Amino acid sequence: MESYTNSTRTIFKLTSDVTLPGSCEQLKDGTFIIDSDDAPLDRMAEDGLIEILEENVPSNKDMFCGGTEVIFNKELQFIKPFHGLNGHGSELRKDKMGTWRCKRCDHTMYVPIDNGRIVEPFECFNDVCGRKGPFEPLFPKELIKPIWKLPMDVIECTPTGLYEDIYLFVKEYLILKPDEYHIYTLWIMASWLVDDFDTCPYLLFIAPKESGKSQAIILLQHLCYRAVLSISVTPAALFRSIELWHITLLIDEAESQVRMDTESGQALYGCLNGGYKRDSYAIRIEGDNKIPTTYEVFGFKGIASTKVFHPTLESRSIIFNMTQGKPKKLIINKKDTNILRSKLLYWRFSTLNKLPLILPESRSGRIIEMFISLFTVAQIFKNCCGVKTVITYDDLEKILKNKIKELEGLRREEEVESVDAQVLQAIDKLEERCKEGYTDEMNMIKIMEIADYLKHERGWEEEIGKEKINTTVGRKLKVMGLRTKHTMYGSVLDLTNEETIVCLKQLKERFLIGSGVGVGIKI
Ligand SMILES: [Zn+2]
Repeated sequence: MESYTNSTRTIFKLTSDVTLPGSCEQLKDGTFIIDSDDAPLDRMAEDGLIEILEENVPSNKDMFCGGTEVIFNKELQFIKPFHGLNGHGSELRKDKMGTWRCKRCDHTMYVPIDNGRIVEPFECFNDVCGRKGPFEPLFPKELIKPIWKLPMDVIECTPTGLYEDIYLFVKEYLILKPDEYHIYTLWIMASWLVDDFDTCPYLLFIAPKESGKSQAIILLQHLCYRAVLSISVTPAALFRSIELWHITLLIDEAESQVRMDTESGQALYGCLNGGYKRDSYAIRIEGDNKIPTTYEVFGFKGIASTKVFHPTLESRSIIFNMTQGKPKKLIINKKDTNILRSKLLYWRFSTLNKLPLILPESRSGRIIEMFISLFTVAQIFKNCCGVKTVITYDDLEKILKNKIKELEGLRREEEVESVDAQVLQAIDKLEERCKEGYTDEMNMIKIMEIADYLKHERGWEEEIGKEKINTTVGRKLKVMGLRTKHTMYGSVLDLTNEETIVCLKQLKERFLIGSGVGVGIKI
């Protein structure tokens, strides 16, 4: 590792009124960071003015973040960030599973894992002590049997170098459209920073049988953060695994797996329903007492299917429509994927908590949520001027923006044929008649007129959804934010009302109504 600056910083909390030096930085949680040379902190603490929370946090931005990761190197080992001594740098420290500390004498000892099982020492290895515990495990117990492909040791790499490695590797094994290779690569890298995001997109591969979509999933299994194939976990373990380990869940042949008539199908359904957003939960009925338990199911998910079989899936996924074609290579080189995973692990340790979130521009909140993670990873190409990279930031941004435009377009098409769109179109037609003086009252559209139009021109039946057309129209107007007013002609839409004018204009833009563009016609 590189050398680090020697300046140490101290985090503290104010306990009473203190004038702080100008250079101190206030954190979101109300604590402060301060260069220790700047203030007599010890004295302030002694006087009860401040409470020192954590001493000697290195200020270096290259400090490693993230939790513990298991690696398999002949015997089960784990690595975790280590914040150095006295603030001097930070490093990734490797340890063996099965290391214990005697709580009586502080002696640490190592007991080899026996057939994958952790064994606690019988008595302290320190002859002077020799007591029978208690012993504290110095390793992550919950990670003892990972169900995902493990990386090897961490391999240092640059973010853009890693991107290029993955991009070129994927090109050998998959037939995708040119832009999709980049989205696929960004998604893999984003999965390793799952803790940084509150929302994520699903990747959905749609293709007929035997056209490479399984390969797309298997490749993700090799390259994503803690990737797990759904068929390899029981329904009970599925929820627990996602919550505990933030696994990347991969579902192949989803149309036959995600179904309501099997327990595992229901579990997957629950995971997909809420899994795109942090703090959304799936409920599972557990045990003989049938106790409902909630699980957080947020995490990256890749899905392959022959068709879109679920509306949530369609609105939350970046969809790759795969065509047949033979990739250069079919058998995945495990040595290469091991190296990539080890580099991705370095990417995680060195990048987590560091990239500022980048919000894409879109009028749809859902689309912003879907693309935050990809835009955030894409920024690694910013400030790469002069360095030859596999893609420039501008081009990558263009790819993502095009994808957003495509999704916004699809969404509009859906809306165009909706009930709302039909009501708006009726209003548009009646406005024309208003202007031409065919209606009884200028600048007013009666709800009755809208209902009549829909009945005669769009074939609406009088009892739709058990209510009269009038009622439906009134309700729709309310939902769309169009206010009506009561007059001697019944409820009307006042076309001179400023609020109504603005609202109508926005709605028509969104639904592509008026100005020569009719319902159901694409631009
Ligand atoms: Zn001891």
